Amino acid sequence: MIPLDAGARRAILEAADSLREESLDWLFRLVRCPSTLGNEAGALKEMERLYRHLGLAPQRIPTVPEKLEGHPGFSPPLIGYEGRDNVAALHRPKVTKGRSLVLQGHVDVVPEGAADMWESPPYEPTIRGGRVYGRGAGDMKAGVVSYCMAFAALKRAGLQPAAEVQLQAVIEEECTGNGALATMLAMPKADAAIIPEPGPGVDAYYSAEVGVVWAWVTVSGRPAHVRDMQSGINAIEAANVIAGAFKDYEAERNRAENIHAAFHGVNHPVNVNFGTIQGGEWNSSVATRCRIGMRVGVMLGYSARQVREDIERLVAKAATDERLRGAQVKLEFKGFMAEACELSVETDIGRLSRRSYSEATGTELRGFPILGLTDARHFVLHGDIPCMVFGPDAQEIHGIDESVGIESMHGITRSLALTMAQWCGVESA
Ligand SMILES: [Zn+2]
Repeated sequence: MIPLDAGARRAILEAADSLREESLDWLFRLVRCPSTLGNEAGALKEMERLYRHLGLAPQRIPTVPEKLEGHPGFSPPLIGYEGRDNVAALHRPKVTKGRSLVLQGHVDVVPEGAADMWESPPYEPTIRGGRVYGRGAGDMKAGVVSYCMAFAALKRAGLQPAAEVQLQAVIEEECTGNGALATMLAMPKADAAIIPEPGPGVDAYYSAEVGVVWAWVTVSGRPAHVRDMQSGINAIEAANVIAGAFKDYEAERNRAENIHAAFHGVNHPVNVNFGTIQGGEWNSSVATRCRIGMRVGVMLGYSARQVREDIERLVAKAATDERLRGAQVKLEFKGFMAEACELSVETDIGRLSRRSYSEATGTELRGFPILGLTDARHFVLHGDIPCMVFGPDAQEIHGIDESVGIESMHGITRSLALTMAQWCGVESA
């Protein structure tokens, strides 16, 4: 850590405060981009614009599966990567005094669900009660804006980081993590990384995260007119039988002896979710085919490969159930094949981030183990780069009426500015 004199500290915090309106402006621009899987181009363009606005030269970083295959952090993709390159920018100091830093965030969002259930349309950012509502506002466009505004605050104070700083905007955090992996591997190795993912209704850091495996089961039955129903095999009912086979498994994986200490006290940390179903063709025809998509959590101390083998075993066994007599069952793994990860905050970047947060906001940052995952695993498990994940108070991420607290977001911007200034040191801009 490089000490920051009181004048510089005050100037940086004042500059961060003067960027409040501009932060909201950029957050609105990003939330207006419906950057679901395959539709990230608009948000990535905004990120190029934002990096340029910071005086940096954005570069495009492609995700090339052929290059990543065989890397332990790689997950099988769902779609191709053409026209969806990640965006990064590299700040180089005049003289290097401190340590280098990655500020990373994802621009992809999960689908909005039932848009008619939102109080305001999901891609029209709206302020109510001190919060910005919109899909991706919390997860994690506010965090992305915060790290950019933290960089801008140093500049506005007449300073800049006295070490290399990488800004990274990546895709597919929500389904593979391949965007983050490709970007990390393409950039110089840094001394630490920060990802401002949101906290659960409060500002928070993440102390650990589960891993995730995505699997797809396709059942092909035998179609028939409903009047001859007994001669058919209903693929939708068959898929239900297979889904039911995961209930006991989920209970077993949540038994106390299977839970890592980092998750003690967390209710039901390993979750199996059936997230999608497609199937059938007509209400009066026995359904021919049904495909279900599931997400199975991976506890620390257990591996994604073990979970994959568990899924293979459970599906193979369910396929022999007499109710499935003669149905064909296909199992595929596409999407996450991601390990669980402990995120120690007893690291230099962890201690500095928490201290900076206290200085910037006057309160202590709370930590939680989370039952989802972030791109941090790439830095920690595969990059040998300590990573601190902390961010603003968000609510209903992946749900209806997602939002982020505006004051909270500004607090994170202030924290990031102080962290960057003391991690990297500062020089005149
Ligand atoms: Zn996220």
